[in-house]
Amino acid sequence: MRRKLIAGNWKMNRDIHETAALVEDLRVRTNDFSTDIGIVICPPFTSLVVARGLIGDTAIKLGAQNMSEKDDGAFTGEISARMLSAVGCEYVILGHSERRQYFKETNELINEKGRKALASGLKPIICVGETLEQRESGVTNQIVSTQIKGALSGLTSSDIEKSVIAYEPVWAIGTGKNATPDQANDVHKLIRKLVGQLYSWPVAEKLPVLYGGSVNPANAPDLLSQTDIDGALVGGASLKGDAFAAIITAGLEATRQ
Ligand code: PEP
Repeated sequence: MRRKLIAGNWKMNRDIHETAALVEDLRVRTNDFSTDIGIVICPPFTSLVVARGLIGDTAIKLGAQNMSEKDDGAFTGEISARMLSAVGCEYVILGHSERRQYFKETNELINEKGRKALASGLKPIICVGETLEQRESGVTNQIVSTQIKGALSGLTSSDIEKSVIAYEPVWAIGTGKNATPDQANDVHKLIRKLVGQLYSWPVAEKLPVLYGGSVNPANAPDLLSQTDIDGALVGGASLKGDAFAAIITAGLEATRQ
């Protein structure tokens, strides 16, 4: 059975002082949680050091929200994979739909970033998902398959074993409108089948495929109890300690079912 993973994407929210308060709150709330579940928080770059110090050796792991595909050099404003590793990140979100939409990130660029992340020992959380228009025109599977093939191009089975996929339908992100558990599970199954074809079934079976898009404490139990939903990438609800802890609890309960 795959261990569920609940990751919080804080986006451009929380300065260092607010980060300290939120991490302290989460530490208290998750202190007794079993290690049967993975917990990751992805604060903004400026908060990573503070968050790292406060999570200490708790079960909470640290991730970043983006990184450069370059190693180092004259790339003003960019942050490298090595820099993220050095501050204690284990994960990095790549190809979030906001990066694709506002910063024109392509599947090729996301693939380059993924390779760089893996080479630096980071686990990429690779985001894919269709827009509303694409869903309504019946091309969801095609879009998601193209994104997966592009993002994973050239990665080895051992790379995939260190990677996470997040299926995030664009129309469900930050809209309060989540995919139904069945809609999400169908796409998760498609992703796993595709990875099985590209690599092998044992590799696909181990791959964590998270769902993201308006996950909250009310819809988390149904979503997380689906066979192929291995966790959640949570935006808005990860900014509130009580809501994020409730989603983690839903993940733990789904694991025990
Ligand atoms: C996200 O940004 O990855 C996300 C899923 O956001 P929200 O939970 O707010 O929809």
